[in-house]
Amino acid sequence: MNFTLTPEQEDIRKLVADFAAKKIAPTAAERDEKELFPRALFDEMGKLGFLGLPYPEEYGGGGMDFVAYALAVEEISKACASTGIGLSVHVSLCSWPIFKYGTEEQKQKYLKPLAEGAKLGAFGLTEPNAGTDVGGATTTAVKDGDSYVINGTKVFNTNGGEAEIEVVFAVTNKESGPVKGMSAFIVEKGTPGFSYGKKEIKMGIRSSVQRELIFENCRVPAVNLLGKEGEGFKIAMTALDGGRIGVAAQSVGIAQAAMEAAIKYPKERVQFGKPIASQQAINFLLAEMATKIDAARLLTLRAAYDKSNHLPYAKEAAMAKMFASDTAMQVATDAVQVFGGYGFSREYPVERLMRDAKITQIYEGTNQAQKMVIAGNILR
Ligand SMILES: Cc1cc2nc3c(=O)[nH]c(=O)nc-3n(C[C@H](O)[C@H](O)[C@H](O)COP(=O)(O)OP(=O)(O)OC[C@H]3O[C@@H](n4cnc5c(N)ncnc54)[C@H](O)[C@@H]3O)c2cc1C
Repeated sequence: MNFTLTPEQEDIRKLVADFAAKKIAPTAAERDEKELFPRALFDEMGKLGFLGLPYPEEYGGGGMDFVAYALAVEEISKACASTGIGLSVHVSLCSWPIFKYGTEEQKQKYLKPLAEGAKLGAFGLTEPNAGTDVGGATTTAVKDGDSYVINGTKVFNTNGGEAEIEVVFAVTNKESGPVKGMSAFIVEKGTPGFSYGKKEIKMGIRSSVQRELIFENCRVPAVNLLGKEGEGFKIAMTALDGGRIGVAAQSVGIAQAAMEAAIKYPKERVQFGKPIASQQAINFLLAEMATKIDAARLLTLRAAYDKSNHLPYAKEAAMAKMFASDTAMQVATDAVQVFGGYGFSREYPVERLMRDAKITQIYEGTNQAQKMVIAGNILR
């Protein structure tokens, strides 16, 4: 067993950390305040190769592994969790299903520009009445000649409106039931019949964008069917297994940022004639933060390693996502406590980190859903 990063992984971590500190962190608070999506930063990250790290060079990727990708998501999320989730959705939920299930033509046409960062990706699964219960989806796709006609509404679509490429799930055969009746499609922005509804106004990750996707007789070429008809549920679930590694890495980044702030402040804040860092109550909080973050990072990198090495990783990713997101929430909340009243003030970053942490316990399957995945695996 080896707990050290390879020189390539360490190099990419440093490169991303440096970019995040110089380019992403300085505008994070303002973008959160004004709810601005950082498209220019995504373009820059694309040019640096961050948007296709784990994909082969022949498809425009960086030829690295999912450990390098997880390290990149952590470093970016430490600077800005909104940018971190945009990256994670792009790489894990949009590019990966095309890489895994796409035809050679689909990979050349869609994966390559995604991995090169020329286009941004998104993933449309959730519907108004189908969240945890994915099988409750009612968006339909009906084959008509050499096209499919899609009708329905998707909600909470991260990168929605910005993304040029969407992987969208729709029922192609109601009689086969939710598991076998769903199919996946690649839908391009600008396709007639595909438009955007309301933009979500949120508690946290406010510089990330979530929009409603509306499909009204949207005609998609049959060659844009991803995988086979009826494979949509499997494609969605396996994409989410990988997506959870990204959310876990995002959570570790948020927690690390909160802890670093909570280490710095008590050394400077004097009460009762001495820095509050000398109080055991503060020390113990920091000790718990550091231990939980280490454990969360190890779980995350273990799941990323397993994915890279073609080992089973669904349970491992669910464990990492659940533990890391709970850690992010706990650490960010405790960091606010360490800052006292100033932690509640928007003058310091910990209140944003606390707001950002909450969503990691909810999306890509709530932590209750992760328990279903973990229990299902260990009982099998
Ligand atoms: C900011 C944000 C970004 C998102 N991005 C995307 C995206 O890009 N693409 C996409 O497709 N979706 C996206 N989502 C949707 C997200 O994945 C869902 O919100 C999430 O899966 C939960 O679904 P729901 O909100 O419908 O909650 P519900 O399913 O209604 O759940 C509500 C509560 O009930 C619990 N619950 C439900 N069923 C059970 C059960 N069987 N046992 C125990 N507890 C249960 C849940 O754990 C939760 O606590 C996003 C959501 C948000 C808020």
